[in-house]
Amino acid sequence: MSATPSGLTAPPLAGRPCLVCGTPIEVKVTEWSARCPSCGTWRSTLEPEIESEALQQEIDTDARAVGLKKLREGNNERILDEIATLRPLEAASLFDVGSAHGWFLAAASARGMEAEGIEPEAGMADHARAHGLSVRSGYFPAAVSADERADVISFNDVLEHIPDVDATLEACAQTLRPGGILSVNIPNATGLAYRMASSLARIGVRGPYLRCWQHGLPSPHTHYFPAEALIRVIQRHGLVVRRTVPLSSVQRDGLWARLHMVGRPTPLTIVSFAVLWLAAPLFNRPGNSDIVLVLAQAPAETQPR
Ligand SMILES: [Zn+2]
Repeated sequence: MSATPSGLTAPPLAGRPCLVCGTPIEVKVTEWSARCPSCGTWRSTLEPEIESEALQQEIDTDARAVGLKKLREGNNERILDEIATLRPLEAASLFDVGSAHGWFLAAASARGMEAEGIEPEAGMADHARAHGLSVRSGYFPAAVSADERADVISFNDVLEHIPDVDATLEACAQTLRPGGILSVNIPNATGLAYRMASSLARIGVRGPYLRCWQHGLPSPHTHYFPAEALIRVIQRHGLVVRRTVPLSSVQRDGLWARLHMVGRPTPLTIVSFAVLWLAAPLFNRPGNSDIVLVLAQAPAETQPR
């Protein structure tokens, strides 16, 4: 994540141009979130506080890991299968941006990739290194030198945390080898959970909406993209979008731990658990999926830019 908190100098949200299409965005649902009326991209003014110890301590990292791991492991294998349809994984070099616990690095290494993580949060980076994984501390692209290249660059639930999406994607285009793959999975603004959460927030039930944005967590979301909008942004950096794949967002196994990653059970989290458990198949239907994977490819020949 290349986020640099801009503190109190951030311009007001209303009327800022949409980063995808330039249309002035409109404040919606809460004072800190706004939506583009043209392309449906959402922007927030939430700021990352990666190294905030107070916030880190509020998260039960064990519960978070248990809850997320089963969901992520299934999706990670799916992502690698999809990348493998575009280029061989064996011996391919990978930068996994925001590598966190290192689960994707481990899965990629198991497939023969030369996988290296880039992770700004020191505890996460140490955790992954303790499991034998290769991780650089810092942000992308600052942690990559100008002459380094990669066959694959991945962002797994990371790009939505980065304020300057265009600068990040341009750095990807510059860092990928010809024919290299950019793999981005993000929460989907047209997914069922986000649509339900924003509807509930409009009638005063804000918990699920705050959870969608990771409000109050060390690294909240700065954007929520519809898949089509993300594709537009990626394409303007000279990358060719090759695949758009809905991924599972709700898995019954591990769901309880996932919902309890912050604080004690509340009536809201208990109701959320019941609803999500019962409706898991509905959430994972392709048109409703709350996670979308986009794979894009750098041009085969290096072109003057
Ligand atoms: Zn827009």
